[in-house]
Amino acid sequence: MRLDKFLAHMGFGTRKEVKELIKSKAIQVNDVIVKDSSMHVKESIDKVAVYGEEIEYREFIYLMLNKPAGVVSATEDTRDRTVIDLLEDDVRHFQPYPVGRLDKDTVGLLLLTNDGALTHRLLSPNKNVPKVYYAEVEGMVDETDVQAFLEGVTLDDGYKTKPGMLEILSKGPVSEIELTITEGKFHQVKRMFESVGKKVVYLKRLSMGPLNLDESLKEGHYRELTEEELEALQ
Ligand code: URA
Repeated sequence: MRLDKFLAHMGFGTRKEVKELIKSKAIQVNDVIVKDSSMHVKESIDKVAVYGEEIEYREFIYLMLNKPAGVVSATEDTRDRTVIDLLEDDVRHFQPYPVGRLDKDTVGLLLLTNDGALTHRLLSPNKNVPKVYYAEVEGMVDETDVQAFLEGVTLDDGYKTKPGMLEILSKGPVSEIELTITEGKFHQVKRMFESVGKKVVYLKRLSMGPLNLDESLKEGHYRELTEEELEALQ
């Protein structure tokens, strides 16, 4: 990898800024000051130091975000704040993006990474990765809905969903439920309830595959995945 790319990826500025840094003799490779930004380094072998401090290269970042309402699951948006706007500079330069989408008003677990292979594994429809949602639903959710979801319901565009596991936590004018689904169609949970004449008024994602929302993370807060969480995702 080019030295300037290495340094830009590790957060030392844009490629242009990094070039200036190199010119100013701030960078050493294997204890030798370098001035050529097009120089190639081997990430795992060469010792790169900035102002004498060694930089350990890492390619990927994995963040668990407790997404708040009011931000969109995108990297850029002309109108709304995005989940990327919630990140500090020290992780942003890795250029993470959200793995899948939650609606603007949905809260809860969102994985952000720059690991394309993992993203593909988690989102690929034939991998059937289960996602668990907690929802508050207007209307009395009952056993008929449980059965309907188990058989698959037909959404407004004619799509028949795969089986969903609906658990009723409390029944009332607003019922509380947990729903496990293995697909991620646009507004899927809301549309599944619409298909049985009910309205989701609050939606929170609790898990995605083996990854569970860390309930100690306040909405809008994030942290890196632990080694165990990462291993479970492999
Ligand atoms: N289903 C929805 O309807 N919305 C989400 O944000 C996620 C799943």
